[in-house]
Amino acid sequence: MMIKLKLLIVLLLSVGISCAQKTKTIETNEVLMGIDSLMVKKHLYTLASDEMEGRKAGTPGIEKAAQYIESEFERIGLDKFQDLKTYRQSFVEKELNLFNIIGVLEGKSKKDEYVLVSAHYDHLGVKENGSGDVIYNGADDDASGVAAVLALAEYFKNSDSNERTIIFVTFTAEEMGVVGSTYFGKQIEPDNFVAGINIEMIGKESKFGPKTAWLTGFERSDFGTIIQKNLINTGYTLHPDPYKAYQLFYRSDNAAMAKLGIPAHTFSTGPIDNDPHYHKVSDEATTLSVSTITETIKAIARGTESIISGEDTPTRIED
Ligand SMILES: [Zn+2]
Repeated sequence: MMIKLKLLIVLLLSVGISCAQKTKTIETNEVLMGIDSLMVKKHLYTLASDEMEGRKAGTPGIEKAAQYIESEFERIGLDKFQDLKTYRQSFVEKELNLFNIIGVLEGKSKKDEYVLVSAHYDHLGVKENGSGDVIYNGADDDASGVAAVLALAEYFKNSDSNERTIIFVTFTAEEMGVVGSTYFGKQIEPDNFVAGINIEMIGKESKFGPKTAWLTGFERSDFGTIIQKNLINTGYTLHPDPYKAYQLFYRSDNAAMAKLGIPAHTFSTGPIDNDPHYHKVSDEATTLSVSTITETIKAIARGTESIISGEDTPTRIED
């Protein structure tokens, strides 16, 4: 009886221990991923708040957004780009003082091979006339993408294993015609850039259902099939852009990079043809799913792993 009881206790203990270990493994994975929905929510709600006044390039509102992104790059511990003294790449265009915000995570063994991770942090500003809500918060477009850039910067910094150099950029004046990314493109040597990961509007479930995103210009390089391969068994899937008529490949910051031959594509979950908030003052953080954003950021982290590590190099974009 005593022996049986002892055996039972040992059995119960070992079951208990193995359960605890399992839970711990999952929790550790979550921590290792460093992509935390509370942090994502904080980025999103801060950038899309009324205080940022719609983040229009050349206005005080975008200055506040820039300062938030800079303080996050600082906290995460990113390096400066080229010979810049700060995270700002400033320039004048359309008689406006404009600035991209750039942070760098140097690669271990392939530091001269760059992977770009980007989103635009500008939006449409404030309605000039009208009553009630007049602020274009641009939560999905593209505070969600900027939240992704910040979360990915934190993730890759924490994992401390990127063989290639990662350049995190939040572009200005995308809404004025991809102005910030076009300027950035003139300051770089395109051949050093092996891939561009651009992120736009990832706050709503895509038309392919939960845990899915789509990629613009899917057929223009093998970038998308590399991501699909890396996502096998993750429960998340990537699809070719279903909105061919919109020519989305040419309508976001990836286009400025793709013109230079860089395999640069945009990830999105946006229900483009069925989105009542697109470019409206109602594009508010409360209309988005923070879990959709967080899952998509994790999928981008996992999906791009073999590009960051130097195992895979996508084919170039042909003109
Ligand atoms: Zn956008």
